[in-house]
Amino acid sequence: MDIAVIGAGIAGLAASIALTRAGHRVTVYEKSSFKNEIGAAILVTPNGNRVLRRWGFDFEKARPVDFKVFRFVDAVTLHVAVEDCFDDVEDRFGDRMCAYHRVDLHAGLKDLAEAAGVEIRLGCEVVSVEVEKGEFEIRGGERVVRDFVVLADGCHTHFLPQVTGEDTPTVKIGKSVYRWLAPFSKVLEHPDAKRLWGEAKGPGFCTFYLPNGCMMVTYPCRNGDLLNCAVFHDTRADESHKLDWDSNTTHEKVLETMQGCHDAVRSIPLTAEHMKVYTVTQRRPSPRIHAGKVLAIGDTIHHMLPTHAQGGCSALEDAGALEVLFASSSFAALAPLPSELSARLRLYTRLRLPRSATTQILSSTNPRMTMEGLATKKDEIRKFYAGDLVDFPLGCISWSRPVREFWYGYDVFGQAERAMRYKADGVVPEGVLTWFGDVSPGEKMEFAGRV
Ligand SMILES: Cc1cc2nc3c(=O)[nH]c(=O)nc-3n(C[C@H](O)[C@H](O)[C@H](O)COP(=O)(O)OP(=O)(O)OC[C@H]3O[C@@H](n4cnc5c(N)ncnc54)[C@H](O)[C@@H]3O)c2cc1C
Repeated sequence: MDIAVIGAGIAGLAASIALTRAGHRVTVYEKSSFKNEIGAAILVTPNGNRVLRRWGFDFEKARPVDFKVFRFVDAVTLHVAVEDCFDDVEDRFGDRMCAYHRVDLHAGLKDLAEAAGVEIRLGCEVVSVEVEKGEFEIRGGERVVRDFVVLADGCHTHFLPQVTGEDTPTVKIGKSVYRWLAPFSKVLEHPDAKRLWGEAKGPGFCTFYLPNGCMMVTYPCRNGDLLNCAVFHDTRADESHKLDWDSNTTHEKVLETMQGCHDAVRSIPLTAEHMKVYTVTQRRPSPRIHAGKVLAIGDTIHHMLPTHAQGGCSALEDAGALEVLFASSSFAALAPLPSELSARLRLYTRLRLPRSATTQILSSTNPRMTMEGLATKKDEIRKFYAGDLVDFPLGCISWSRPVREFWYGYDVFGQAERAMRYKADGVVPEGVLTWFGDVSPGEKMEFAGRV
């Protein structure tokens, strides 16, 4: 097929790699010129790294930092209140749990896409989409028609209602984030910071609880040279419109939020030149994720809260599913009939929607960022997913062991291959596609799924 992917974020690049590997010709249309690097880190858990590894991602070049611990620290006394390890994650779930500088992850994906033969067209802003025809217009007037279009233009997409048939606007949760990347060596110049990080059993989260109830999440990236910092706080009136990642703020505002904190904590923002702020939003899942010749993936369709580090990982899973379900060798002809494409899109929906919608809903069950009451979440989830919910609602506490079982063990390739076995008659037993992994306490992952 001739395929267009709209957007070259993690989802769009990953989908372009997957669909090229599946035997199609892929062009990516990206509105930016890639010059606006986003200075922040991203944690990728084993379910995401499994996808990257299959594609031969150059981990060494991307310089991620493997996570070994998480610690909750009192920001006033520096007392470590909670400490747990991620030591067994790689062994148990079969891949790494590591943090990348976003620019490094993105560059690695772009290298893979280009090596696979994907054409990436920059400066191409899509201004309208006709889903039934698989046609869209680029600013300036160029019109493009493709056999299949993947919509990966992120959470600020204008085209989602055409796909889902409903209006699901993004919703502000009342929180904003101050964020910056600090040179780690400068942070450690403070003797108490040096002692705090020196006592850690390895790299990972060091999350500070501030006296005003705010939370500062920190973790290293890029070989440990940089410390990624994010202060979640109640949105101030002057920042509620700042929905993009690149809005500037001042050190004064950040330090205001950190009043009463230990000097070693307050000195962290002072080591960095630029402070950014953005206001956190989320969107509720829709039961329809494709229409006509267009499929929505990534943040476009499952924009979630960053509580469990699953947004980017879900985008990688989407791409993994595309690689298997859209393998050109499995179509009757290179340009499949619309009916064949639409059958494959239904199969994709059955595979992906239960998991991505559940992930989306569970992302808002973290006590510090919950938008609505927990009581309603299970009912919401049941609209999409009938399988087991690991230790709900306790299982939704970020980084807890049940949460790890639920998300990290998932093998999208294995599950997609199972789904393909049922494509002939199109009847997929519920248990095949709604179960997210087979793990019993104390066992190593088998990825066997259950039928
Ligand atoms: C604070 C925070 C922390 C997070 N931490 C993690 C984490 O640790 N782990 C994790 O897995 N996830 C995390 N996430 C989520 C993750 O960042 C996102 O899920 C992921 O980046 C989404 O990628 P995407 O490609 O779907 O969207 P985007 O990254 O938004 O990409 C969309 C692309 O489309 C382009 N585009 C937009 N409109 C058009 C148009 N009209 N025409 C052409 N191109 C267009 C944009 O320029 C952009 O390049 C976090 C998110 C936040 C906010």
